Amino acid sequence: MVVLKSIKIFKLDIALREPFRISFQTFTHLNNVLITLTSTDNISSCGEAAPFKPITGDSREEAIRFLQLAAGRLIGRDIRDLHELHMILSELEHDSGLISQTAKTALDTAFLCLIGKIENKPVFKLLGVSKPNIVKNTLTIGIKSIQDTVRTVKEYMRDFSESGLSRIKLKLAGDSEKDINRVIKVAEVFDGELTLDANQGYVDPEIAARTFNRMYEEIGERIILIEEPCPKGDIDKLKYVKEHSEIPIFADESAATFEDAKKVIEHEAADGINIKLQKAGGIYWGKKIAELANDYNIKLMTGCMLETGISIAAGVNFASAMKGMINTDLDSDLTLPINIVEKPLPFQNGARIPIDKPGLGISLRKEIRDIINGTLSLIPVF
Ligand SMILES: [Mg+2]
Repeated sequence: MVVLKSIKIFKLDIALREPFRISFQTFTHLNNVLITLTSTDNISSCGEAAPFKPITGDSREEAIRFLQLAAGRLIGRDIRDLHELHMILSELEHDSGLISQTAKTALDTAFLCLIGKIENKPVFKLLGVSKPNIVKNTLTIGIKSIQDTVRTVKEYMRDFSESGLSRIKLKLAGDSEKDINRVIKVAEVFDGELTLDANQGYVDPEIAARTFNRMYEEIGERIILIEEPCPKGDIDKLKYVKEHSEIPIFADESAATFEDAKKVIEHEAADGINIKLQKAGGIYWGKKIAELANDYNIKLMTGCMLETGISIAAGVNFASAMKGMINTDLDSDLTLPINIVEKPLPFQNGARIPIDKPGLGISLRKEIRDIINGTLSLIPVF
């Protein structure tokens, strides 16, 4: 038996180096929740919730409330049965009417890390592979002017040349001409591969498909995929773009939870699914999405919200253990002004690599609670 003794919950706020803009939002801070778990034999692990209501469906307040309620049901339990733990969380959702995918993700991450430490295995091995699959990773550029975009591309090429950077992801604004010009400019400066993310910016699927096909004519197969062209949940529009675009279309916001992803997969409305653990409810649910997608021969990528090295480590372990994973977008920790983990998982040969250490392969910096310099704040709430 490995019994859960305590759960601690903290608000985690980090100012970003520069504002990050996507089609419908600009972020200046990461506003997450950090949890630490300790077992009765004093082994501990951590997890992270990265809520953003329009994408994950929950606010930070809801995530914290869910974690507080979950603590009441989980403390004293044997934590080695992940299925059983998720059943307890599903019951809690049912009883409380409160749903927080990101809180479940934080718990799932911390449970798997703790199980890994007890079994002396890295999380990717717990997921069934003896050697991690190496998947190329993108660095993301938010919506900016062409000039600023090109400047960031050059900075990335300079700062991450030793990491073997070979893919860049560009956020699209939903304005055909501007998007096409910007993508062409980036392709001139950067000779690697590109992924694009419309974040629902194209209301008209015909315009989306036409725009993407013009990009394809200009740049060809160096654009390997485009995420979420149209308003989320509109499966017909998504499927229209998928059927008319030369570039593979991936569902992201439309495939948030297992149930959402199931709908997209069963309608064959996308060529691929972007599994973000924070919207799926953790690796337990992400794996179910991956297995279903594999059955339909639908490709996978793993993305992230604004996450630190903790939640990114969960994504890296997950992505490197799933079949059909062709891309990762696990980069948000690389450009934060502060690291809260001792050693972030490596970015090498263009890929994020899990390491062969028990659990997630990362640990919280010891001095982290002492750092109060305006960049980071860590407030205990439970
Ligand atoms: Mg996306």
